[in-house]
Amino acid sequence: MNIALLEETELLRGRAYRQWLLGRTVSVVGLARSGVAACRLLRQLEAVVLASDAKPRSALGRDALALEAEGVAISAGGHPPQAFRGAQLVVVSPGVPTDLPALRELRLAGVPVIGELELAWRVMEAQVIAITGTNGKTTTTVLTGALLREQSRPVLVAGNIGTPLSAHALTFPRDGIVVAEVSSFQLETTERFHPRVAAILNLTPDHLDRHGTFERYVEAKARVFAHQTGADCTVLNADDPATAALARRTPGRVVWFSRAKPLDYGVFCADGWIVAKLNGHVEQICPVGEVFLRGAHNLENVLAATACSLWTGIAPEPLRRAIALFRGVEHRIEWVRDLQGVAYYNDSKATNVASTIKALESFSEPVILIAGGRGKGQEFTSLGAAARGRVRRAVLIGEDREKILRGLGDRVPCVFAPSMEEAVGMARAAARPGDVVLLSPACASFDMFESFEHRGAAFKAAVLAFGDPP
Ligand code: ADP
Repeated sequence: MNIALLEETELLRGRAYRQWLLGRTVSVVGLARSGVAACRLLRQLEAVVLASDAKPRSALGRDALALEAEGVAISAGGHPPQAFRGAQLVVVSPGVPTDLPALRELRLAGVPVIGELELAWRVMEAQVIAITGTNGKTTTTVLTGALLREQSRPVLVAGNIGTPLSAHALTFPRDGIVVAEVSSFQLETTERFHPRVAAILNLTPDHLDRHGTFERYVEAKARVFAHQTGADCTVLNADDPATAALARRTPGRVVWFSRAKPLDYGVFCADGWIVAKLNGHVEQICPVGEVFLRGAHNLENVLAATACSLWTGIAPEPLRRAIALFRGVEHRIEWVRDLQGVAYYNDSKATNVASTIKALESFSEPVILIAGGRGKGQEFTSLGAAARGRVRRAVLIGEDREKILRGLGDRVPCVFAPSMEEAVGMARAAARPGDVVLLSPACASFDMFESFEHRGAAFKAAVLAFGDPP
C-alpha cells in the first residue's frame, strides 16, 4: 500500500479530508442522482474524476452527461479499465453491486472503496442523525427535521430521501444538524461513518435479492452504529425483536422507543401522552390525541423522531407544537381534504399488500378503498382478510384488478374503474358522511402512471376538482 493510501485511511473528516482530495484521482461508479452529486462535489474539491455507468450513453440522465463539461471523464455501457486508471479512491453509488469484479481487484490492491454517504460525511463537518429501518424512514426523517427546526440551528434533511448529502457537503454550516435517511445499500459502503444519533426503526425481510439473507441485511443496517462511541445515541425500537436485539452490539448509548410498554430509558406512551424518561423522571411531551398522523405505525415514527431529537436538548413545548403541526409526507396516508363529511386520503406510496393493510388498520371509520395497479406477483387474500369489516366498497383499477377482486372475496363489494378520475367519482358516490376515501393501491403504478408520485397526484387532482358543496 502506498503512503497516500495509508494517509487516506487515517484522516478523519472535514478540512483535512478535503485537502487530501485535492488533485487525487477518484473513480465514481454509477451515475444516478448520488453518483452525479459525488462527481460534482469531487470536482469542486479539485479532484481528478473518472466516472462510469453500466448503462449506455443514451440511457444516462442529462445531469450525468452535463458532468463532462465540468471536467469529469465518463465511460458509459460498463466499467472499463480506464475508468479506474490511477484511482486513489473509488466512490460507488448505492445502486451498484459491491462485488463487481473491478471493485474486488481495486480493494485487493489497497484502494479504498466507499459509498457516496461516506464521502459526503467525510467532507462535511456537521453532526448527523442517521435514520434507517425497513419501513417509516422517510416519515421519521422528515418529522425529525421538522422537530429540530423549532430550534435555531440550521437543519438539513437529506440522504436517501431525494437530496444526496454530497449536494450540500460544501455549503452546509458545521454548526448545523443533518438528518439523513440512510438505506441498507448506502450503509454497506460506509467505513468510518459515525452519526451522533443512529436510529433503526424496525427490521423485516427486504431487499433479500441484494443482501442474500436476512442476517446480512441486518448486518448492513447495524453498520449505522458501528463507529459510534459511548457519547453517541442509538435509537432502537423496543417493540421489534430483531431491532431490539441489536442493543447488545452498539457502542452507543441506547435510547429506546416503544408504543407498547413503559421504559427505563427512552420515549414511550403513558396515560394518553407521549413521554420521555431519560434522567430518571417521566417528562410529558405531547398528548397522543394531538398527533395528526393516522395509524399505530405513524405513532411509532413520532416516538422515534422524538427520541432522535432529544439529545439536542429541545424542550417539550416546541416538540409538542411541531408534532401536532406535522401533516405527514406526501403520498403516505396524506390527508387531502374533507368534503361533505367524507375525508380523502392519498396513500399512493403503498405499493405492496403489507402497506395497504397498515393503512386500513389506521382508520376506525368505514373505508372506500381505491386499489390496484401492477401486482408484482403478490397474493391478495391477506388484503381480503384485512378489508373485511373495514372496507365498505373497493374501487379497483389497473392491470391486476381481477386478481385483487378474487383476493378480496365476496364479502367486500367491488367495482372496476377505467381511470383514476372515474375511480374517485365512484368512490365519492359510494361514500357516506363519516367515511374515509383512501387511495392505497397495494400495487406498483407503472401500468397506468409514471410513478407512485404521479398516481398520487392524479388522485389528489381528481379529489380537489370536486367543487365545494353549496
Ligand atoms: P420508507 O422511507 O422506509 O419507505 P415511509 O415513511 O415512506 O417509509 O413509509 C412507507 C410506508 O411504510 C407507509 O406507507 C406505511 O405503509 C409503512 N410504514 C411507515 N412507517 C412504518 C412503521 N413505523 N412500521 C411499519 N410500517 C411503516
